[in-house]
Amino acid sequence: MGTFKLTTVEEFEAATNRLLETGKKVGADGWQYRVANQTPHCKFGEQGICCRICAMGPCRITPKAPRGICGCDAHGIVARNYLKFTAGGAATHSDHGREICHTLYCTSPDGNYKVKDPEKLIRIAKEWGVETEGKDIYDLAHEMAVLGMGEYGKVFGTQNFLKRAPQHTQEIWEREEIAPRAIDREVSCSLHMAHMGCSSEPKALIRQSLRAGLSDGWGGSMAGTEFSDVLFGTPKPIDTEANLGVMVAENVNIVVHGHDPSLSEMICEYADDPEMIAYAKEMGAKGITVSGVCCTSNEVAMRRGIPMAGNFLQQENVVLTGACEAIVVDVQCIFPALGPLSKCFHTKFITTSPIAQMPDSDFIRFSAENAGENAKLIVKTAIENFKNRKPELVYIPDMKQKATVGYSVEAIVKTLDGVTNSQVDVTGTTKPLIECITSGVIRGAVAMVGCNNPKVRPDTAHIELMKKLIANDIIIVASGCSAQAAARAGLMSKEAKDLCGAGLKRVCELADIPPVLHMGSCVDISRMMILVATLAKDSGLNISQLPVVGCAPEWMSEKAVSIGNYVVATGIDTFLGVDPYVSGSDQVAELLTSGIRDWVEASYTVEKDIEKLGDRMIERIEEKRAAIGI
Ligand code: SF4
Ligand code: SF4
Repeated sequence: MGTFKLTTVEEFEAATNRLLETGKKVGADGWQYRVANQTPHCKFGEQGICCRICAMGPCRITPKAPRGICGCDAHGIVARNYLKFTAGGAATHSDHGREICHTLYCTSPDGNYKVKDPEKLIRIAKEWGVETEGKDIYDLAHEMAVLGMGEYGKVFGTQNFLKRAPQHTQEIWEREEIAPRAIDREVSCSLHMAHMGCSSEPKALIRQSLRAGLSDGWGGSMAGTEFSDVLFGTPKPIDTEANLGVMVAENVNIVVHGHDPSLSEMICEYADDPEMIAYAKEMGAKGITVSGVCCTSNEVAMRRGIPMAGNFLQQENVVLTGACEAIVVDVQCIFPALGPLSKCFHTKFITTSPIAQMPDSDFIRFSAENAGENAKLIVKTAIENFKNRKPELVYIPDMKQKATVGYSVEAIVKTLDGVTNSQVDVTGTTKPLIECITSGVIRGAVAMVGCNNPKVRPDTAHIELMKKLIANDIIIVASGCSAQAAARAGLMSKEAKDLCGAGLKRVCELADIPPVLHMGSCVDISRMMILVATLAKDSGLNISQLPVVGCAPEWMSEKAVSIGNYVVATGIDTFLGVDPYVSGSDQVAELLTSGIRDWVEASYTVEKDIEKLGDRMIERIEEKRAAIGI
């Protein structure tokens, strides 16, 4: 056994504390202080029983005032708030998917964006019934982009990607009237239903939450993922590194943060340009290092091996190193705090999207049309800022781990082919994985996803749960900030196999994989949907019968709620470590944790005790195994 050792949360925290010391010297704020200022939180908000959707309110429910002015009770208010929460998340992912469709529309053989995976484009086109024979690949790309954008407002029918689900799942969606129609329609229908004087019946509102979630997972997010692969390449296993130590003191450090790979891909492209590297040297640096935060980091790590500096609650830390020349952001999960924080250092906080504009930032509007010139401008701005560094403030924690990332469904199937006897077995399926699960070598799988949330000691839940699950021979697929927590700790290193139970360890050795597979960003949870759909089809089981569960132990965003809804609506039990503001209605809480099982064969479990959350996931996996007799 080598000298492999996980990085502990205590070590993460020691590094953060040291960075906060630097922050104090320059009067910087930090989320740690703002959390203290906001604690305790408003109880009405926490329970979901405040309503401000009309100007007769705001209303809040108390024993003395059991109804709002319009007469809505706690159940209606909680369910409406929950639906609006979901719609916010679905809108966000879906708009991201639309932008990617637009980028696909802007491709040309000699333009900023090209088609990097034509086979995948042809595959999707055939699936959608589009003639591909003899067609120029760029004509096809433009046609598919228009059809993709059409999914957002299609007039009749349901979304194209739903047909990827097993028949049984599609029948459930039809029967329960939750098959999403047009992507935008489900978002706006949700807002309509949650308007004053529309729906206040919890079942109707929760049903629409599932449908809006599905419009995201099997619509907007799936379009985002699939067409990003067409544009930037379908991820394959690739080595990278994670944690703040990936920043290089002697180099110009550009940190990409946000979600849309159209921006980050182009920044990476220019940071690699010999002309830019020479310019950086001229300015006194040794080179250029691009690293990432949040989901955009996952995107470029998966496709280019760009190192991952940190996840959601690390975003301020990259600036606190004093070595960040520019933090370049697009949309979603970007702390507005980065504006004032960057002013305490030499860092340029560069916003690029009209959708996410923030005070104290330099706005360089980025679009598919001006991508090349503006990416170059951004890289140059960062380089020119190197000279403004204050050396006395520079401290990069010497902490990083190796990670192997890039496990798209295609890559997983290819990896499985590597352990298939091609003389006897068919290749190109998930059958080897099913055999491992059936034989009990692997007990099951957990999809670990979601954010950080200061309500949970950051990263502990992700890391501790993963350690517990892999020790119990349960393989993990991870995405989003959960994936980054794993990578920073070292759980995506192949050496982490030594932390697994004997069965999973053998599989990791045979297939040469880490026990936690990085499947990408938050929109890439759609990859997990495709994976379970494939597993169900290859095994002849329903999705809900597979010993597979989902878990978001530190979730915080509306997007995470939308994700939860589509994961559950796909038939996968989902475990949450943070309460989704529904405790104010026993009816809504009951629906989510049990009632919806009658509709979609899965439901939520909310458990804030992380140890117990892990136990309950293992129990559920074992129950599922027992139910199918394995
Ligand atoms: S919709 Fe009803 S409960 Fe909500 S703020 Fe208006 S009056 Fe109050
Ligand atoms: S996991 Fe959560 S915090 Fe991280 S990028 Fe996704 S939505 Fe944002």
